[in-house]
Amino acid sequence: MSTIEKNIPISYSRKIKKETTFKTPRKQGWWVPLLLPHVANLLKAGVKCEVTRINMEHFQKKENRKQPFLFLFTHMQFLDFPVFLKESLPRKSNSASAIDTFRGVYGMLHALGRSVPVRKFKNNAELVRTISHILKKHKAVFNLAPEAQYSLDGFTLPIPDSIGKVIKHLKEPVVTINMHGHYVIGPVWGDGKLRKEFPSMPVVTYAFTPEEIEKMTPEEITTKVKELLDYNEWKTWRESGIKITYQNRAAGLEHILYKCPTCKEEYTTASSGINVWCQKCESKWELTENGLLEGVGHKTTFNTPDEWLLWEKAEVAKEIKTGTYIIEDTVRGISLPNRKQPVEVGNMAIKHTKEGMSIDGHYNNKDFKFHFPPLYCHTLQVTLNSPDFKGKPAYTGFSLDDDSIFFVPSKKGMVYKLFLAWKEFYRLNKLAIAK
Ligand SMILES: [Zn+2]
Repeated sequence: MSTIEKNIPISYSRKIKKETTFKTPRKQGWWVPLLLPHVANLLKAGVKCEVTRINMEHFQKKENRKQPFLFLFTHMQFLDFPVFLKESLPRKSNSASAIDTFRGVYGMLHALGRSVPVRKFKNNAELVRTISHILKKHKAVFNLAPEAQYSLDGFTLPIPDSIGKVIKHLKEPVVTINMHGHYVIGPVWGDGKLRKEFPSMPVVTYAFTPEEIEKMTPEEITTKVKELLDYNEWKTWRESGIKITYQNRAAGLEHILYKCPTCKEEYTTASSGINVWCQKCESKWELTENGLLEGVGHKTTFNTPDEWLLWEKAEVAKEIKTGTYIIEDTVRGISLPNRKQPVEVGNMAIKHTKEGMSIDGHYNNKDFKFHFPPLYCHTLQVTLNSPDFKGKPAYTGFSLDDDSIFFVPSKKGMVYKLFLAWKEFYRLNKLAIAK
């Protein structure tokens, strides 16, 4: 029996219309490129920007100044938008954006830029057709974040292996932009304040000419895209030598540093100011101005947050290998049948094991049920401190063709553990198929 047959969709009242996305947007108005520099400056909120451009002379020549390209960017922060918009000028450009961001101020910006709403990790064939139409017919740049969400831990999120095939199919120039600095300036787990002491340091590269694409295999293209979009922003911070003196710089770290390296307990960490600590064993660390960790009153276990994060990743992999991994929880359920109407569907029961994720709930007097096997999607969509839903929760979830099922776990840090485990199960299942 396929996954879809096992699923029982949420029973909505007739007032709620489900939306499958993907209508190719109309062309932007002629005035949009004139307005964009001002919008971009406003959105940059005074952050300094030091751009490095590699092999970009071609696009700066007068005859090529309107030539469209596929613009692949890494995704760390809201700041990414003004930076790539400015770099694509004087061309018009469209972006793909998650359907959960189409309300409020973001919704207005999406309407202005004629963004394409997508349900994450679904409808890929339609998205490719839309990209092709925008590049070839509208002669506009298409902005795409292959990671499809903000970096959670300062490392590049999984990039789908299919990106090489998409580029090969489009046969259009590809430019990449790696948004170094944006995670340091405003990490997704943070309190929302920008650390403006740190500059935006994007690296823009003309990655593939159509002639190069012709000669390369999809696998070679994918490998090069992954190299160009690779980052570890903790390293960017350390190696820059730039100090962050912001006094609340560690607040929120428990979203990702969820396991105590001293007593090994999970979800017991807390943070405020410049410190993160364990509420169970009382071990405490300071996040220094240079991005290092120092034990307060004890020797530190890890010298940097990224060492701690890699240890957590290895711990999850160990649980999976020894067969002890399981997460069961009662969670707050939110669905998104269309871009305008999030629906609180009440408490749901989730269970994540090597078989995948099962979700059970009850709404509008009817049970609903979903099961997502490990290969359903290559990564889990996770949003921390999201303004998209009431209470700015950290949530994760899945897209269907005409609905999205999100949930807020009972403990902070659990979405990050689920994210680590989902990636590992996906990797192991892919390996098993390849054998
Ligand atoms: Zn502890």
